[in-house]
Amino acid sequence: MDTPIDFKFLEESVAKKHNPKFGDREYLVIQTYPLGKTTRVVYRSYDYQEAERLSNLENLSHDYSSFATRIYHDDKLWIPGNISGIPYKISEQQVWKIHPDYKFRDVDGEIEICSCSYLYFAGGTEILTCLENDNGRSITLCPNCGISLKQDEDEEDDDDDDDYTPLACLGCSNYDGEFYGDNQLICAIHPYGCGSDFCPDFVP
Ligand SMILES: [Zn+2]
Repeated sequence: MDTPIDFKFLEESVAKKHNPKFGDREYLVIQTYPLGKTTRVVYRSYDYQEAERLSNLENLSHDYSSFATRIYHDDKLWIPGNISGIPYKISEQQVWKIHPDYKFRDVDGEIEICSCSYLYFAGGTEILTCLENDNGRSITLCPNCGISLKQDEDEEDDDDDDDYTPLACLGCSNYDGEFYGDNQLICAIHPYGCGSDFCPDFVP
């Protein structure tokens, strides 16, 4: 395990995959459906064609989830231009950073996900922004996509409040799923998920 070759492998691929900081113009293959409270990045590359190829493969191999390529630029996710791969238009899906005030479970209310991926805080009577750079502002429309955000919880499906649990992790005793800061830990073996619907390390 401590041979120079293993160490090199660790640096180049593993370390890169687990480094939460994205580089400028780095392509990210993200899950666009279903949405979770953290953006699930399944693949990272500086090669647009490679990212597109892997995004298509993910879509072909998952029946109930969708994936798309985005490019990280100026601290935001962009939709890459079809052929060029350069940032073309701002993506509705972003890596939202929740304000530290909301990282504890004892706040009175819930972080909700808009259909566009935007995270907001639904308190008792108010809907508030809850992001690091835009916090505590009372809103009625989604600042990201403009749809009306509902305050009425009656129509809501209870399942909507659950954190995203990957299909492969349902019933696995290794599954964690808790949030540590902005990041949801899937499990100790696959911190970001195993990337498939069947995990080789599944423990009933
Ligand atoms: Zn929205």
